[in-house]
Amino acid sequence: MQLARLSVYLIFFVGFSTQAQWVGKPLPVWHTGQLDIHHINTGQGNATLMVLPDGTTLLADAGAINSHDWRTNKPRNIPVKPGNDRQAGEWIARYVRNALRFQGNPILDYAIITHFHDDHMGTPAHVTKRGKGGYVLAGITEVGEYIPIRKILDRGWPDYSYPRPFDNDSMVINYRRFLNWQVQHKGLIAERFASGLKNQITFVKQPDLHRKYPVDIRNLMVNGAMWTGDGDKTRLLFPDLKTLQATEYPNENMCSIAFQLRYGKFTYFSGGDIQGVLQFGSPAWHDVETPMASVLGPVDVQLLDHHGYADSENGALLASLQPRVFVIPAWASSHPAPDVLGRLFSEEIYSDKRDVFATNLLPEAKTAIHDFLPRLKSQSGHVIIRVEPGGKSYRVIVLDDNDETYTVKAIYGPYKSKS
Ligand SMILES: [Zn+2]
Repeated sequence: MQLARLSVYLIFFVGFSTQAQWVGKPLPVWHTGQLDIHHINTGQGNATLMVLPDGTTLLADAGAINSHDWRTNKPRNIPVKPGNDRQAGEWIARYVRNALRFQGNPILDYAIITHFHDDHMGTPAHVTKRGKGGYVLAGITEVGEYIPIRKILDRGWPDYSYPRPFDNDSMVINYRRFLNWQVQHKGLIAERFASGLKNQITFVKQPDLHRKYPVDIRNLMVNGAMWTGDGDKTRLLFPDLKTLQATEYPNENMCSIAFQLRYGKFTYFSGGDIQGVLQFGSPAWHDVETPMASVLGPVDVQLLDHHGYADSENGALLASLQPRVFVIPAWASSHPAPDVLGRLFSEEIYSDKRDVFATNLLPEAKTAIHDFLPRLKSQSGHVIIRVEPGGKSYRVIVLDDNDETYTVKAIYGPYKSKS
């Protein structure tokens, strides 16, 4: 008993002395047994690089709005981080190359596209840069030009027809061109993300290490098919399309891929752009967070749903997940909404401590959430979760995103994993 207590003190003492040494210097490279989750900030949408304890790599999303909104056909004028001289996809690739410098030739073993929006996959609108396969380089297609991708999981492969075909969607058309060319010429494997499974994403570098470093990734949801918590079973949250008018079909955000990663006692949740706060007059099934909450329990770290937009992070989800650490992948003036921050910090929803980190608050967002700003641990930067071998504890590290030195700005923790 005493020995156990002594070792806890020791972990935290060593933890604090390590932290002081890191600030102002480049992030130390990953080593075997660690789990790194990098929330890369380009100011252009989501991009999360994971390095699993055996060295298997995964990139979830590669947003690139390219300062142009295909939805409204208006420029958004959001600066690219670290600079406008390259597109977001190339910055992501360069970040990945640096983070994976322990490998000779960096490879992404997996990529996931949570759903088909520009801030998660990249838009070809107004982009002239093209790859060898003739497709436009933007977001994931640009990352793939610089870093080989072995397997890509999305919600549409192979027919891209749910809830309706993407025949007029230039983004999905360009992406499918990329997939087809990469499958033919580079050996890329494309698969549909399959809800309920926990063996679609596994260690591929050193599978034997799974016994020593147990990481499981559970596929929770895609296209409204949600894991029930029982074996690999799923149930459909959305009505049969036959009972709906085309205008009532599920929207892109609610079709997002959600997954949960566990490493020993450590748990991380990522839900893409799922929503849980009903717009006036919309049917109850538009809230996908509440059913999701019913099959989940407490987590250590949550990547905020839908960038913390007003329709996300409802009370049921927060009461179930009770995250110790929140990461907000912010890129627009509406990220995060004041109401959402009110819920995040609400001790009526849960009483435990929590720390909130944002990747890229815009000046307009800072004005809107002014009263909450002192409570945020970060307002800009790459946010890295570094989980120690075995998963018992983790730190949050904020890196400078103004250049490519990857300098540690601040470090928080060590936090003890929950369960
Ligand atoms: Zn989004």
